Amino acid sequence: MRLSRFFMPILKENPKEAEIVSHRLMLRAGMIRQQSQGIYSWLPLGKRVLDKVNAIIRDEQNRAGAIELSMPTLQSAELWQESGRYDAYGKEMLRIKDRQDRPMLYGPTNEEMVTDIFRSSVKSYKDLPLNLYHIQLKFRDEIRPRFGTMRSREFMMKDAYSFDLTREAAEHSYNKMFAAYLRTFDRLGLRAIPMRADTGPIGGKLSHEFIILADTGESEVFCHKDFVDFDIPGEHTDFDSVEGLQAIFDKWTSVYAATSEMHDEAAFNAVPEGDRLSARGIEVGHIFYFGTKYSEPMGAKVQGPDGKEHFVHMGSYGIGPTRLVPAIIEASHDDNGIIWPASVAPFDIVVINMKAGDQACDDTCELIYAALSKAGKDVLYDDTDDRAGTKFATADLIGVPVQIIAGPRAVANGEVEVKDRKTGARETMTIEAAINRFVA
Ligand code: ATP
Ligand code: MG
Repeated sequence: MRLSRFFMPILKENPKEAEIVSHRLMLRAGMIRQQSQGIYSWLPLGKRVLDKVNAIIRDEQNRAGAIELSMPTLQSAELWQESGRYDAYGKEMLRIKDRQDRPMLYGPTNEEMVTDIFRSSVKSYKDLPLNLYHIQLKFRDEIRPRFGTMRSREFMMKDAYSFDLTREAAEHSYNKMFAAYLRTFDRLGLRAIPMRADTGPIGGKLSHEFIILADTGESEVFCHKDFVDFDIPGEHTDFDSVEGLQAIFDKWTSVYAATSEMHDEAAFNAVPEGDRLSARGIEVGHIFYFGTKYSEPMGAKVQGPDGKEHFVHMGSYGIGPTRLVPAIIEASHDDNGIIWPASVAPFDIVVINMKAGDQACDDTCELIYAALSKAGKDVLYDDTDDRAGTKFATADLIGVPVQIIAGPRAVANGEVEVKDRKTGARETMTIEAAINRFVA
């Protein structure tokens, strides 16, 4: 992508409305734009990051055996009357009438709809286990939308729903998502800690929130510091192994971790003082096992091996991609801007032409841009005629992991500079060596 042809509206000034660093940096880097309170457009740079986050989420959901579909944002109120949640869900639900005066709503979550899909076609235990997910916009009319897309009214969620014949089978489905979440957050460059959670309006029996420690987090959390070193399940984890997944779950729930709602002062005080971590955190994911809470009122049942009908045991599993993007920034930035983990960076490499219009600089940059693009790298080529200082500031701000800098003096010697955004380390090398480093 040539910067001269891209759309990346950088802000020079710090936006006054942004209270936390991720919101400030997302606005300054031209990643998002607020359209009305708590409702955002994702501009091209932001969209690239969001797509990469979603690709990792999808990959890990698929690995764990979940199956993707897509459900609509607008739902009929009837379904929610069946489960009893139409009246129970408060003002957070945006209620709408269509032209025939039929009550509709903008979905805040999809338990009812997916249960309806399930009951319409699954009739036998032989079709279980089943886990269906989608990545879709949700709307919740939050009292206090704030911090940009961290807490917005319209936001994206990956929500998965599992169906099983028995409680034991449902717990295995729960453990699959538990392990998938550990892997997902790790690939996003985050250390998320699963914490026992309240089951809230979704209701249920077993629940964990996945929390990232950050000073700007909205939750108060308490945990054992050992979490920082726990091993993440590897990519060859056998998701069909009941014992294997139970062992992962047991390990990750073996030491104390709770949000303030579930906090048990006495249990926390039993943790040796030097191992206690009391901090603030951002909830990036939340999983529930809630048994037959929806299957009973909605009549979702299958025939079991005993020939009888059984209400299915369900769970639901959410991750917030539009919250994860700012959460990643909270965890990874410096005074100059964002530092993306390579896995979600909007571009792999930025090529900076320090003197656009200078034949040797132009030729060098074109050569590098073409070679790296051909090798499958996502390259941003800053071919604009801005001052070098402005280009460096922009490259640092948008946080691309690697910068290749071509200035007239180095280029005259057949060389360029390669800068690592994270460490700031710079290395001068031949043009060929710079290309080979990233093509190999
Ligand atoms: P919170 O406690 O932060 O209000 P929640 O518990 O109501 O969130 P869930 O129903 O558990 O949210 O939703 C699953 C995930 O969706 C959350 O873990 C979070 O990542 C994301 N999410 C929920 N609400 C929002 C929001 N208003 N803006 C952005 N992401 C959100
Ligand atoms: Mg939650």
